[in-house]
Amino acid sequence: MEPDLTECRTDFHVHTNRSDGRMDPTWVIDRAVELGLGYLSITDHDTLDGYRAAAAYLDGLANTDLKLIPGIELSTRTDGRDVHILVYYLDRLSDEFERELRETISRRTERSLEIVDELEAAGYPISRSEFIEATESINRTAIGRFLVARGALMSVGEGFDTLFGDGCPYFVPRDDMDTFHALDLASSEGGIAIIAHPALYHVVDLIEPCVRHGLRGVEAYHSEQSTAESDMLVAMAQSQGLLVTGGSDWHQDDVHPATLGSIKIPSQFLEEFLDADPR
Ligand code: AMP
Ligand code: MN
Ligand code: MN
Ligand code: MN
Repeated sequence: MEPDLTECRTDFHVHTNRSDGRMDPTWVIDRAVELGLGYLSITDHDTLDGYRAAAAYLDGLANTDLKLIPGIELSTRTDGRDVHILVYYLDRLSDEFERELRETISRRTERSLEIVDELEAAGYPISRSEFIEATESINRTAIGRFLVARGALMSVGEGFDTLFGDGCPYFVPRDDMDTFHALDLASSEGGIAIIAHPALYHVVDLIEPCVRHGLRGVEAYHSEQSTAESDMLVAMAQSQGLLVTGGSDWHQDDVHPATLGSIKIPSQFLEEFLDADPR
C-alpha cells in the first residue's frame, strides 16, 4: 500500500556498521518498522553493502509496508574541500564505480591507521593491533569510539575537535574521489545525486558548479543545519529547480544529534523526490 505522504515519516540519510554507524542493517530495518517509517534509505559511506544487507533482510519480512531506497554517501573532495554526495536509486554500480569506491575505502583505512600510529606515538592508549582487534570498521569515528572506551576522550566529537579533525595535531590528509568526477559517474549510471549537509560542510557555493555535473538536489533538512540554513537551501533549490531532501544522518547516538526517523520533510518535496525514482 502507498503511504499517505502528508503523514509519512521518512529517513533518507542513515548509517550502519557497514561504514561508521554502530548498528547492523537488520537492526535498522527492525527499528524503522517499529517506528512506522514509510520510506528509509541506508546511505553508508562509499559502499552499497549496508543497503544490500538491509534489502535482503527486508525481503524476508512479512507484514511491513516499509519502502527501502538504495543509497550511498560518497566522500569526495574538490579544491581541498570535503563534499559529501548522497546518491539514491542505484542498486548496482559499474565495475569502474566499484573500483573507485574500493580505492576510497582503502585510502580511508590507510589514513586511519596512520592517525592511530601518531596517537600512539603521542602517548594515547591505542595501537594498530588493539584498534583492529576491537573495531568493526576502520575510520576516524571508530578511533574516537575506541578512545572513549579507553577513557581518553569524553566523546567522539571531542576527538574530531581536538585530535584528528581538520586542522588538529593528528589530522592526516586523504585524497578522495574528485567531486565533479563522482557526480559525472553517479549521473551517468542513473543515480539521483543530492549534496549532503551543504551548510554544515560550508560548501553552499559549490552547489551551482555541481549542478553542471548532474547534481539533482540538496539535503536541506539535517539536524546540524539551522532553520535559517534550511530555509536558504530550500529557496536556492526552488530557484534552480532542484530536489529537496533531509535525513537524520544517524550513526547511533554519538555523531549527530537526530534520532532515526526524526527529521521531517514537507510532503511536496517528498513527492518530488519519490517521483524522481528512475527505476
Ligand atoms: P573519515 O571517513 O574517517 O574521514 O570520518 C569522517 C566521518 O566522521 C564523517 O562521515 C562523519 O560521519 C564523522 N564525523 C565528522 N565530523 C564529526 C564530528 N565532529 N563528530 C563526530 N563525527 C564526525
Ligand atoms: Mn559517518
Ligand atoms: Mn556526511
Ligand atoms: Mn552521513
